[in-house]
Amino acid sequence: MCGIVGYVGHRDVTELLLEGLRRLEYRGYDSAGIAVQHGAEISIRKKAGRVHELGKLVEANPVAGTAGIGHTRWATHGETTDINSHPHVGGNGEVVIVHNGVVENYTTLRAQLQQRGYVFRTATDTEVIAHLIAHQLSEQLKLGSDPERPDTYVTAVLAALAQCKGTYGLAILFRDAPNLLIGARLGSPLVVGVGQGEFFLASDPSPLVGYTDEVVYLSDHELVVLTPAGMELRHRDSGSLTPSIQTIEQTPADIELGDFEHYMLKEIFEQPTTLENAMRGRLDDDEATAKFGGLNMEPQQLRRIDRIVLTACGTSWHAALVGEYLLEEFARIPTEVEYASELRYRNPPLTDTTMIFAITQSGETADTLAAMRECKRKGHPTLAICNVVGSTIAREADGGIYLHAGPEIGVASTKAFTSQVTVLTMLALYLGRMRHLSYPAGHRIIQQLREIPQKVAQALESFETVRKIASKYASYDNFLYLGRLYNFPVALEGALKLKEISYIHAEGYPAAEMKHGPIALVDPNTPSVFIVPRGGIYPKVMSNLEEVRARGGPVIAVACEGDDEVADMADDVLFVPEVDEFLQPLVTVIPLQLLAYQIALLRGCNVDRPRNLAKSVTVE
Ligand code: GLU
Repeated sequence: MCGIVGYVGHRDVTELLLEGLRRLEYRGYDSAGIAVQHGAEISIRKKAGRVHELGKLVEANPVAGTAGIGHTRWATHGETTDINSHPHVGGNGEVVIVHNGVVENYTTLRAQLQQRGYVFRTATDTEVIAHLIAHQLSEQLKLGSDPERPDTYVTAVLAALAQCKGTYGLAILFRDAPNLLIGARLGSPLVVGVGQGEFFLASDPSPLVGYTDEVVYLSDHELVVLTPAGMELRHRDSGSLTPSIQTIEQTPADIELGDFEHYMLKEIFEQPTTLENAMRGRLDDDEATAKFGGLNMEPQQLRRIDRIVLTACGTSWHAALVGEYLLEEFARIPTEVEYASELRYRNPPLTDTTMIFAITQSGETADTLAAMRECKRKGHPTLAICNVVGSTIAREADGGIYLHAGPEIGVASTKAFTSQVTVLTMLALYLGRMRHLSYPAGHRIIQQLREIPQKVAQALESFETVRKIASKYASYDNFLYLGRLYNFPVALEGALKLKEISYIHAEGYPAAEMKHGPIALVDPNTPSVFIVPRGGIYPKVMSNLEEVRARGGPVIAVACEGDDEVADMADDVLFVPEVDEFLQPLVTVIPLQLLAYQIALLRGCNVDRPRNLAKSVTVE
């Protein structure tokens, strides 16, 4: 949520910043802005709207320089206007900042600064940070600090941040210190890209791809001082730190659209490959189990676990629900799924033998991070299932499993969901094989998992049929999504996809639970999407489907190939290949992702940038 990019070095920074913002735009797209430094002058261009609007503004009003910062905003305080867009200016222009996060005590700080004569130009919380730094800087200079020394600026920044409550990822320029860029982090992600005589700063590595593959992730309370001559990493309390340089593996192709019209579509079609990647090297035929490199727990310790809590938000929470069914079925370990935003403030009785898994695509989700920290504080082993290597949750967890799905840029999550479900299936297999699951049963699971990428590829062949069905239903304003057992979370996920990108009201429900309330919504204007593949519960779901038909509700069914019974009963059918019940979510979700995509297109919605949403929700 919100994207920051910064640079100091020898290149002309303007296009670099704009390109960085384009790559980060999935994190926030209310407005965008850049500040470019040229000697003792900092020029700002900012605008409500998308990065391409900013691009036009810059084209009409060019700026040039070799140091700069940029921002795409996801507004928390203050409307999405030009003036509220970042960068923000402190004092009389001595300080210019971009900020990701929230200043919780901004009203108090604002009043104090106003009393001191600082004039506020915006309605944002961020502006207080800019003025606070400007104020502290003037105090430093009054005390005789040397304006030529970066330390003077570092001291001012630290003194200002000590007064702020809340979260920040910050990039800061100083009018009177050209070629100095300071970054600071508390709660919001920040990564430094290390080049030759140049340094980058960003919310995530995507703006650095193609420039450098060496990065340093900042931790909370760390601050980084960047000049073309070098970097210095510091901790608020303990001073200078030795940076740990890591290598990122992204290539420019990973973050390009290729032949696809939207990232969401690209990512939907990547799923056969991303699922291969999730399983690569993790299926052990000899032992009929799965294996993971990074759990960091001894088998003895794992065997003692008698309860699992999966905590997540949004789509990851739906994947966690599938995980609950899998873990209870195969590992026989009681499992609960908790919304991270609830878990963080609740006080559930967890024991020494409870294992916590935080599930998150980005590894930065503020609520999931807070829930994980709360559990860690109480001494529970806390592991992560996450996609972004080096993300905060990945670094802070005791251990974990990466998805290896590659960057997910579409705001509506697709490939991360199926990778999460695949990883949870392997986890259930692994924990199951340590307990009651037999060798042949383990073997069968492995065989079925191996076939999944091919089955998902087959499910993707429904693309053309989905397109036709979408045109029939795109004008409806309410949908029900219904499924049972493993397909109940898929119903929730299908409904969420439709809500997110086409702004249609949709409810996911357990199919049988429908008659305890939502059935009242059924009428000819409310299509029901039934997920009804063959399996033990099939006749029951078919009865639920009949109940909807009897009340005049249109039915779109997701069913197994060749299922004529469903084809006769439903108005429209999307066929998927037959797989064992526990793997059904991986194929049944595919046509639902495509359906949401096609309906959103037909309704003229921006698929990759749905309104009010942003990827990687780093505010609480
Ligand atoms: N709180 C700041 C604002 O509303 C920053 C939001 C963001 O992270 O984009 O401008």
